[in-house]
Amino acid sequence: LQRLNAHLSKAQPSATYRMMDRVAARRASGAKVISLSAGEPDFDTPAHICDAAIDAIRAGHTRYTQVAGMRSLREAVAAKFRRENGLDVAWEDTIVCSGGKQVIYNALAATLNEGDEVIVPAPYWVSYPEMVQLCGAKPSVVTCGGDSGFKLTPKALADALGPRTRWVILNSPSNPTGAVYARDELAALAEVLLAHPHVLILSDDIYEHLIFDGATFHTIAQVEPRLMPRTLTMNGVSKAYAMTGWRIGYGTGPRWLLNAMEKLQGQQTSGASAISQHAALAALTGSPQFIREAASVFERRRDLMVELLNQAPGLACARPGGAFYAFASCKDLIGRTTPAGTRLDDDEAVAGALLDEAGVAVVQGSAFGLGPYIRVAYALDDEALADACRAIHRFCESLS
Ligand code: PLP
Repeated sequence: LQRLNAHLSKAQPSATYRMMDRVAARRASGAKVISLSAGEPDFDTPAHICDAAIDAIRAGHTRYTQVAGMRSLREAVAAKFRRENGLDVAWEDTIVCSGGKQVIYNALAATLNEGDEVIVPAPYWVSYPEMVQLCGAKPSVVTCGGDSGFKLTPKALADALGPRTRWVILNSPSNPTGAVYARDELAALAEVLLAHPHVLILSDDIYEHLIFDGATFHTIAQVEPRLMPRTLTMNGVSKAYAMTGWRIGYGTGPRWLLNAMEKLQGQQTSGASAISQHAALAALTGSPQFIREAASVFERRRDLMVELLNQAPGLACARPGGAFYAFASCKDLIGRTTPAGTRLDDDEAVAGALLDEAGVAVVQGSAFGLGPYIRVAYALDDEALADACRAIHRFCESLS
């Protein structure tokens, strides 16, 4: 009776959601927890975007939309790709889904067959390998350590590519490391990919606007237009406009792929929420001021976090160029023991003890494919971040 789909049985539940559940359970038992585990901005959705959604409800835009999204939103998405990414696309070259996650999942589900492989550079966003697995294919994880800035190098990519490779996934700025690929780094990867015309490329640009130090964002289809016919460039409003709960993501890619994704979506969720699509339309066509302000707030917090985390004995953290994550090595904590007697055998034990004994929630790096690290999301106000870092510092000092 309870026999599950074989691919689902093999997949792991999301480690970040698991940590959120543990935080909720600790809080329900009366404990005070500062959560640095959630991957979402702490800001409210800007008022003009909320107003657009309320107006949409009042105007009766409460029905099904076209499966691939409202024409007006797809036009705004195409305009965004032209304006911000230099991609020469028309509205027909776009698709709108219920979150960036659905864009990725549908692209993989529409194209993967048993035996196919997907190159996933690690550390990776937790969902990539699991989605690949759910689609019956095999993640081919390529470890990208701190010495390469947690980024895929052309050599590592070339070594990983093979006849069964169907997709390569790139994510910049990265979750969980905040690493940002420079233009020349993407050009070098593109050079390798040009020699493998059977491979599709997924560029996950969801953190595009959270980029620091005056750097410019680049996406691979822009850097190497010859890859455009086989690149899905994916983005969304969740992180850029503090709209995680609205569930709108979008992408552009070759029409055969978009058509297949639309066919799948038509039998699955249909079009994304009409109300959220109106909100996303207001986001994409409105003032970019919120985005700029959010990026500068996150940049300031990045500076604060990197400084404070590096002061904690046993932690070492590089300076990420974007997103809202710091990825700190906790190598020097492994093997130590907490005052409550917990031996820190690995980074999962470090994250568990930080939660139970220091009241701070982070996610272990091994959940993202690289340990021993902890991922610290700094989507909280400065005071809460400073409190969390003090608690982490005390925890590190208390180990024997
Ligand atoms: N890609 C990355 C790297 C992410 O971190 C996330 C969210 O955490 C997503 C995609 C999906 O975002 P959403 O489905 O909210 O658009």
